[in-house]
Amino acid sequence: MENYSEPIDRLINEFSKLPGVGRKTAQRLAFHVINMNPSDVAGLAKALIDVKNEIKYCNICCNISDSDICSICSNTHRDSTTICVVEDPRDVAAMERTKDYDGKYHVLNGVISPMDGIGPEMLNIKELMSRLGDGQVREIIMATNPTIEGEATAMYISRLVKPMGIKVTRIAHGLPVGGDIEYADDVTISKALEGRREI
Ligand SMILES: [Zn+2]
Repeated sequence: MENYSEPIDRLINEFSKLPGVGRKTAQRLAFHVINMNPSDVAGLAKALIDVKNEIKYCNICCNISDSDICSICSNTHRDSTTICVVEDPRDVAAMERTKDYDGKYHVLNGVISPMDGIGPEMLNIKELMSRLGDGQVREIIMATNPTIEGEATAMYISRLVKPMGIKVTRIAHGLPVGGDIEYADDVTISKALEGRREI
């Protein structure tokens, strides 16, 4: 603790819990808030509370959504025989930016990572399996990130899905190993998708 007054210390402490925010940045943000006008501070606080209260997850693909079924799942013009499996909602946004993919998605909300205590039961895998029962889906594209955990998760899901007679493909490695789909440029994502191969 830096021993500013208690409310400042508390705000610094809250900011420093955010990803990528160290102690110094947390201090800078806290002092920035002190200098903001009251209505902007109220707006920030309300946005934080509202996003948690109002955001829902799609009942089908588990992507964030403002309704029970997201706009992608409810779009009948999209190809429902193909599901692209990604780690988180930001990956859906990145794939959508390319405009090269017109199938559906499934958001795992993470990857299997024994080191972090994350087992398969903590991801949206059973929700994925429940989508495959009706025989409509013909291909699952595993688009988890090219990390050790991303590869292991792709293999895990592949082993569950293949016995159902559904083709499982893995996006190509145009993406840098250890890289993040979220931050890849559109051309890289399009090429990775185009060059997918069966696993
Ligand atoms: Zn959906």
